[in-house]
Amino acid sequence: MRKNKKEVSSQTRKQMQVTKDQQIIYVITGIFVAMFALLIGYFIYFTVAKEKQIAAHPQNTRLNTMAEEVIRGTIYDTNLEVLATTEDGETRVYPKGKLYAHAVGYCINGKIGAEALANSQLLYPDYSVSSLFKAAFLEEKFEGRDVVLTLDDRYQSAVAEALAGERGGVVVLEPSTGKIRAMYASPAFDPNNIVEEWEYLRTDEENTPLVNRATQGLYPPGSIFKVVTALAYIEKQGNKLLDFTYNCTGEVSGDEYTIECYDHTAHGEVDLESAFAKSCNSYFVKLGEQLSVGQLRAAAEKLGFNDKLDFDMPYSKSKFSLNSKDTDFEKAATAIGQGRTLVTPLHMAMVAGMIANEGVSMKPYLMDYSMSKKGSIKLKNMPVYEGTTLDVETSKKLQNLMLQVTDYGTASSLEYSGMTVGGKTGTAQNETSADHSWFMGFAKDNAGEKNDIAFAVVVEGGSIRAVSVVQKILNVYNQVKP
Ligand SMILES: [Zn+2]
Repeated sequence: MRKNKKEVSSQTRKQMQVTKDQQIIYVITGIFVAMFALLIGYFIYFTVAKEKQIAAHPQNTRLNTMAEEVIRGTIYDTNLEVLATTEDGETRVYPKGKLYAHAVGYCINGKIGAEALANSQLLYPDYSVSSLFKAAFLEEKFEGRDVVLTLDDRYQSAVAEALAGERGGVVVLEPSTGKIRAMYASPAFDPNNIVEEWEYLRTDEENTPLVNRATQGLYPPGSIFKVVTALAYIEKQGNKLLDFTYNCTGEVSGDEYTIECYDHTAHGEVDLESAFAKSCNSYFVKLGEQLSVGQLRAAAEKLGFNDKLDFDMPYSKSKFSLNSKDTDFEKAATAIGQGRTLVTPLHMAMVAGMIANEGVSMKPYLMDYSMSKKGSIKLKNMPVYEGTTLDVETSKKLQNLMLQVTDYGTASSLEYSGMTVGGKTGTAQNETSADHSWFMGFAKDNAGEKNDIAFAVVVEGGSIRAVSVVQKILNVYNQVKP
């Protein structure tokens, strides 16, 4: 009996021991479950509930904290060429070096370009239960989404090659959608070396390599402004004929000024079409006299001068500041794109695109879509209709003027079979250096199988002409399969 009793009591102790162990297991399990629930809760809160606010604040500190937990996604061009990626889970690498310095940008020492624009997507963890386990227990990082841009490496490479050694800015876009196909500024920098070169890049005031000249560079427009002066005249005439003519002798004089045509060329008897094609300054000064300051201003502001652009990256506003107190000389200079007027390549590409698109403005954009690591599309940007800037008839009149420039005017070198090219050349005098060279225009596929493209190019006081950069753009357009 005693023996039995002993056995019983030892058994009871054993049972009690088991119960205690179980309790500890329960407690530990409970803690893990609670931690896990908290973790899930945190990520759901972070990625779902707070997504909108986070997206609105790309520099958000909470997102920066998140950056340590997430492997930043890859950035691709429209044909899935890698433009930026993360190696070994942390090192940001830009395989194309300088080529996308401003368009893709960098993400150390602040963020610019697509790195800033798509930041919340690049850090957005598309987590599954297994990835949560891995992250929690194996200390593995989450993977952010990949981002596909509208940029096309073929256009970007062609533009960069053409601008090598020059300063300037270029934007190529698709008028019917607003997709930006190339955005390049020179001088550029290598974002792979952003840390090492930061002090130099930040303080180089002569070359300002960090400035995206394509969107932020403000330049006098020179003769590309004749598009605006012509529009003011077209609007003034309404249904009346565009019959103003002038006999150009190579220069035109006012009370206290003389303005010359390029190379003092006497263009003879010119009308709107031939004066536009040959870029006759004398004609446009005289045309400007037919217009009030208010009519010039109205045309400029209709095209977006002095106003915000519908664009999600940093840019400068184009300026038109002529007023009724200005001298006749200031007004004459403004009519031919000198004066105090300033524009960006981005804005001029948008205007060219709107004209090519029968007067309809589409919002320009750089981010096409984001996708999970498994390749499913997560966030897709659709083309955004911005407004009808000009009626079809007016835009056709401007298109026609621009077509004469490449037909027999100042850009007759831009002849291509199978496509129609229109545009306007410009040579802009400025106080600081040699003349800037401009071209804004569009190309259409005659077979109608490819989307149109529009572009604006400025070369600062350079040894090359903007038209030579446009030639490279058109070569790509020619080769791109519909
Ligand atoms: Zn002339």
